[in-house]
Amino acid sequence: MKSFQNIDAKSVQQAVTLLQKFNHEKKSALVVGGGSEALQLMKDNVLTPDYVVNLKTIPGLDTIREERGGFRIGALAKLADIEDHPAIREKLLILSDAAGDAASPQIRNAGTIAGNLCQRPFCWYFRSSSFNCLRKGGQMCYTITGDGRFHAILGAGPSYIVHPSDTAPALVALGAQIKIAGPAGEKTVPIEKFFVLPSVDFKKENILNPGEIVTEIFVPAPKPSSKGFHHKVRERLAWDHAIVAVDTIVESSSGVVRDARVVMGGVAPIPWRAAKAEEFLRGKKLDDAVAKQAGEIALEGAKPLKDNIYKVKMAQDLVQRGLLASV
Ligand SMILES: Cc1cc2nc3c(=O)[nH]c(=O)nc-3n(C[C@H](O)[C@H](O)[C@H](O)COP(=O)(O)OP(=O)(O)OC[C@H]3O[C@@H](n4cnc5c(N)ncnc54)[C@H](O)[C@@H]3O)c2cc1C
Repeated sequence: MKSFQNIDAKSVQQAVTLLQKFNHEKKSALVVGGGSEALQLMKDNVLTPDYVVNLKTIPGLDTIREERGGFRIGALAKLADIEDHPAIREKLLILSDAAGDAASPQIRNAGTIAGNLCQRPFCWYFRSSSFNCLRKGGQMCYTITGDGRFHAILGAGPSYIVHPSDTAPALVALGAQIKIAGPAGEKTVPIEKFFVLPSVDFKKENILNPGEIVTEIFVPAPKPSSKGFHHKVRERLAWDHAIVAVDTIVESSSGVVRDARVVMGGVAPIPWRAAKAEEFLRGKKLDDAVAKQAGEIALEGAKPLKDNIYKVKMAQDLVQRGLLASV
C-alpha cells in the first residue's frame, strides 16, 4: 500500500480548504468517512492518494434529526443508526430497510450514509489492479467481452457498472435532497441529479468536483396516503450487492394511483427511475394487470449484455410485486 498522510478534519470548512489546496498542488486526496470501502481500494492499490482527509473527526456531522416535513441525516450517520432509528423505521421504512440490506453488520456499524452513496463501483474489473479498465483511465470496459453477469442493462455504455448503493434508490424514491459543501459554498441538489451516467462522464459516479464533500441528506416525509416497498435480490444474504432492487412509493386512494415513484437498483450505473412507468400508473387502478404492464414499461429500452438477460425478467417481476405491495 502506498504511504499517505492522514489528516483529521476538525470542520467542514477545513476539509474543503484542504481538498482545494491539494487539488491546486496537483496532489491526490481522498476523503474518508467510515473507511470501510475507501481503505480497501487503497489496500488493493486501486486508489493511491497522497492525502487522506478523515471526516469522522468533524463534530456533529453524524446527527439524525426529525423536523417538520422530514429528516435531516448528517453525512456521517452510520447505516446501522439509520436502520435502527425508531422514527425512520416508522416513517421512512424503505430507507431503514435499504440501510439494513447493505453489506454486513460490521460494515453498517462503520459505514456512513455519505460513504454508501459515494462508494466506488463493485465491478470486479474496476476493483482488480490487474485490469486498467476505462473508469481507471484504460481503453475499454472489460465487461463487454468479459463477464458481465451482474452488470448494467439500462443506461450503460461506454461503462457497464451498476451503482452499488442500496440506500440510493430508496432515497431517490423518497425524493431526498443532498447538501454539498465546496470551495464555492454550499448547495443542495435533488439526489436524483447527484449521480452521473457514464455517457456523461465514465470516470466518476456523481457530480462532486474536487474539493466538494457531502454534508447532509434531507428526506421529506412521504404523504400519509402513500405506501412504500423495498426489496433487494442478491445471491446470498450476507454482504452481497443487489442483482436487482426495487424501491417504490405510491400515493393512492381506494387503489387508484395519484402519484408513483419507481426506482430500480442493480440494473444501471445510477439508481434508475422508471419515469414512463410512473406516468403510466397515474390515475389507474393498481391491479395485477396494471402492475405487470408497469413492470414491462419500466424495462423498455433494456440492453442486456450476453450474460445478464435474466435481469430483465427479474426486474419486471420485482416492479410488479413492489407496486402491488404499495397500495
Ligand atoms: C464486503 C462489502 C460488501 C458490501 N456490500 C454492500 C451492499 O450490499 N450494499 C451497499 O449499499 N453497500 C455495500 N458495501 C459498501 C458499504 O456500504 C460501504 O463500504 C459503506 O457504506 C461506505 O461507507 P464509509 O463511511 O465506510 O465510506 P468510506 O469507505 O469512508 O468512503 C467510501 C467512498 O465515499 C467517499 N466519501 C465518504 N464520505 C464522503 C463525503 N462525506 N463526501 C464525499 N465523499 C465521501 C470516499 O471518498 C470514498 O470514495 C459493501 C462493502 C464491502 C466492503
